[in-house]
Amino acid sequence: MNTTFSYECLQTCKQTKARAGIFHTPHGIVETPRFMPVGTLANVKTVTPAQLKDAGAQMVLSNTYHLHLQPGEKIVAGGGGLHKFMAWDGPILTDSGGFQVFSLSEMRKITEEGVTFRSPHDGQIIKLTPERSIEIQNTLGADVIMAFDECPPYEATRQEVEAATDRTYRWLERCITAHQRPDQALFGIVQGGIYLDLRSKAAVDLTKLNLPGYAIGGVSVGEPPELMTKIVQATAPLLPANKPRYLMGVGTYREIARAIAAGVDLFDCVIPTRWARHGTAMVKGDRWNLKNAQFREDFSPLDESCPCYACQNFSRAYISHLVRSQEILAYTLLSIHNITELIRFTQRIRQAIFQGTFATEFAHWLNESESESQSEEII
Ligand SMILES: [Zn+2]
Repeated sequence: MNTTFSYECLQTCKQTKARAGIFHTPHGIVETPRFMPVGTLANVKTVTPAQLKDAGAQMVLSNTYHLHLQPGEKIVAGGGGLHKFMAWDGPILTDSGGFQVFSLSEMRKITEEGVTFRSPHDGQIIKLTPERSIEIQNTLGADVIMAFDECPPYEATRQEVEAATDRTYRWLERCITAHQRPDQALFGIVQGGIYLDLRSKAAVDLTKLNLPGYAIGGVSVGEPPELMTKIVQATAPLLPANKPRYLMGVGTYREIARAIAAGVDLFDCVIPTRWARHGTAMVKGDRWNLKNAQFREDFSPLDESCPCYACQNFSRAYISHLVRSQEILAYTLLSIHNITELIRFTQRIRQAIFQGTFATEFAHWLNESESESQSEEII
């Protein structure tokens, strides 16, 4: 089982725990470290697969919870599976739906069996269990599927977090039993909240299950960024060196750079596309609001050094005009640029790991304190 998946470490950093490698999947390789754009409903909002490929995307993410509600996994399977349905022939990862059920759904009830919640679409009662999540993900057909886990909120007590972490392990065992497709790799998720000893125990326990990959979940749920860094630094090195490591839902420059320095390989986040829809460009570590007056008559590209379609063809003034007019093309161009920018950031780090310059070249992101930069507040 899972012989089609492997992680190859090509280079490790001497100053940090960073590593550059290749994750092999049935739909092609992922050169790590790498940022993965999020296509919630089997599309990265306002961007075509061809544009996504040009932006440098290799693996993309899609959300089981959203696809289960609309259009439903049977329709995706009827369309030939997720790859064919969304016309993306590269690797795809689906999450388990757990995070959305715990963070978005109202009226949910958690038991040992699973989670019951009310569909926001039609009010229907839906039950999601480890078995059901895996069944849905098997039907969708992504290359990497995620275990169904319990993600406690940041405010949860230690007792609650411990109970959720233990339950996540029991649910993972049920996911492994339920998983039916050897052409899909099931990743386990390390939970444990802000408690480093719980994180360590979970990482060690999960490693014994010899899964094809591991994720760190339950971060970026409201904890201070410094605490997230500590969690990642304490957890990532405990995960097996010969398997890919994925940090879920993290996508700012600083968080990515620091997680890579801790040994993480894969990232996903909605930030590049969500900011694009707010008229915001990510440029060399800063956030630019294109509605600002300074851009109205600025005829230079967003970033002269960026190879993306938006920067090669359009000016800041033009994109500012589109944003002010709420034209959909504004969101497409900004999404293309922001995705390209974040992927290039991880590619540049990869290159620096090969050249032995990561710790010095990216020292700005690795050492800077939170108070020194206001550029990455999440909106
Ligand atoms: Zn660009």
